[in-house]
Amino acid sequence: MRLVVLGGGESGVGTAILGKKKGYEVFVSDFGKIKDSYKEVLVNNGIAFEDEQHTEELILNADVVMKSPGIPEKVPIVKKLVEKGIPVISEIEFAAPFTKAVTIGITGSNGKTTTTMLTYHLLQSAGLNVGLGGNIGKSFAWQVADDTYDSYVLELSSFQLDGIINYKPHIAIITNISPDHLDRYDYKYENYIDSKFRITMNQTEDDYLIYDADDEAITNWLKSNKTRAKLIPFSLTKTFTEGAFIKNNSMEVSINQEEFRMETETIALEGKHNMKNAMAATSVAKLMQIRKATIRESLSNFQGVEHRLEKVLKIQNVEYINDSKATNVNATFFALDSMNSPTVWIVGGVDKGNDYNELMALVREKVKAIICLGVDNKKIIDAFGNVVDMMVEVNNMSDAVRMANRLTEKGDTVLLSPACASFDLFENYEDRGRQFKDAVKNL
Ligand code: ADP
Repeated sequence: MRLVVLGGGESGVGTAILGKKKGYEVFVSDFGKIKDSYKEVLVNNGIAFEDEQHTEELILNADVVMKSPGIPEKVPIVKKLVEKGIPVISEIEFAAPFTKAVTIGITGSNGKTTTTMLTYHLLQSAGLNVGLGGNIGKSFAWQVADDTYDSYVLELSSFQLDGIINYKPHIAIITNISPDHLDRYDYKYENYIDSKFRITMNQTEDDYLIYDADDEAITNWLKSNKTRAKLIPFSLTKTFTEGAFIKNNSMEVSINQEEFRMETETIALEGKHNMKNAMAATSVAKLMQIRKATIRESLSNFQGVEHRLEKVLKIQNVEYINDSKATNVNATFFALDSMNSPTVWIVGGVDKGNDYNELMALVREKVKAIICLGVDNKKIIDAFGNVVDMMVEVNNMSDAVRMANRLTEKGDTVLLSPACASFDLFENYEDRGRQFKDAVKNL
């Protein structure tokens, strides 16, 4: 059997290693440059590869192709493979049959990483032999090749899910759905929604789907489509006999006739969106029969993930918060929603078709000044010019932070939550977040 791997990054190299171990004839092809560290791994494992080209004769003779999630379906080589009827699958689909481990698959437009890390933290603290993978850290396939874990918590993007055929997680989470990446879905929101729900398409009556019952896209889909999985909803406003909800300032999770209750104040993560993430992760912990004391302790000591509403420093009683990962309006909505004091908001970058109206009420209520940090800030200025008293344009992070510092008084908050991608001024959102933190530390 010939396995061709398109893309020589983390998931590609991991898949190649697993394929080789399982007796496939493996070839890795990357149209860009493969990092030297990965080339070394491929050489050491005797795996053939090429980069900066796709040699058709070496690719179109595959029995199966693993396409890395970053490669769009419309690139010519993928189109040719599909025309020839060669299965083009994702890393998760390729690797899952080679492990008996239980997998927990987490998808959604926002909150995947936070929920994945929190779930992993809960299970690991309980002493389970659990791995972490998908879009995070070490490749799932690579870990399966090493065969060390009994269960995995996997962050699954819609691109990963587009490449599954038979894969099913035992427990699936859909954190929420709002328009994103529509360029990869023919600009049709319903295609993107369907893609997210692929996470449940192979689930059976023995499996679980945990989902946000406050989310319209999710509840509408569930009304008109079927899943065999047992449904576990979570909500900030409704209550359930089976599910997770907030009541009298407590988070309650009621599953299999058992109840778990914890005051929201004692949960370390802050903000309504994080209550949702905590409800989802706690539902998994209950399904995995983790002890209440362990859940309680883990929820009270989980400090969140870098660049997601990360508290950086308090300077002269002004709090600086790094939410650089907020690359869409929905994520920024929850960031602004969780602000408790007058806020200087740093926003901007590459707009992915944002509708700023959704933020209008929150901006009126909480934002005292806006600092636009982007190459083209016109849309933001048009949207909020008449809403806030002060609006400034800057084109680098240290100016943004110095300006923010000047506009604040004791008790205020400075929030970097750009609602946009970072590629106009930064390498990526991590770079943007790190520059913010450095600039704050240098004040
Ligand atoms: P993802 O991996 O899906 O991008 P992250 O956990 O990295 O999600 O969070 C991305 C951004 O969305 C951050 O700004 C974070 O504060 C915000 N966020 C986290 N959880 C949620 C949620 N449940 N709903 C909306 N926004 C969220």
